[in-house]
Amino acid sequence: MSAPESNGDHRLKQAEKITTHPEQYKVCEGCGSIVASRAVTCPSCHSYLFDTTAMRVVAQAKDLAMRAAHSVLASDLL
Ligand SMILES: [Zn+2]
Repeated sequence: MSAPESNGDHRLKQAEKITTHPEQYKVCEGCGSIVASRAVTCPSCHSYLFDTTAMRVVAQAKDLAMRAAHSVLASDLL
């Protein structure tokens, strides 16, 4: 039985998973979300344009991980 994870921690783990398997993901050109490579349209903005290059996916995942860390800090301050 483990304690429930904080949202920021979950996002960091998710980003870690994405950087190790970038071929299973793609980056939405509309909103920058990382979605599963099997998705036809973006669940966030319904765009159908994606960047599937591994380099872009990894860069985006690292960016999101940094923002997740920042949001944890921000919620601590509120
Ligand atoms: Zn999108």
